Amino acid sequence: MAKIHWFFYLVVGIVIAGYSKFGPMAGEPFLNVFFYIGVVFIFWGIVKMIFSPSGRRDKVMKYKEEKSKGSGNVVCPKCKSNNFTYSRYCHICAYRLH
Ligand SMILES: [Zn+2]
Repeated sequence: MAKIHWFFYLVVGIVIAGYSKFGPMAGEPFLNVFFYIGVVFIFWGIVKMIFSPSGRRDKVMKYKEEKSKGSGNVVCPKCKSNNFTYSRYCHICAYRLH
């Protein structure tokens, strides 16, 4: 279940809901159930889209970007010099930063 792409839920939901509303059997009372199942699928697809791992990948990319930039935005608490965010020790006084 975790491996199924959110887009799949969205498509299935639209197909089920659309078929029950506009399909050849539209108007049949039992199709209302299918319509709601379709809506649930669409909803679930949207939820999965919001919490999809691609968002996490963006964060990692951002982190890597910051790292490559190497902007010294970690200030040494001992000598107040700027250090790279990934530095373990201060480059001036060797104070441990992390
Ligand atoms: Zn220092």
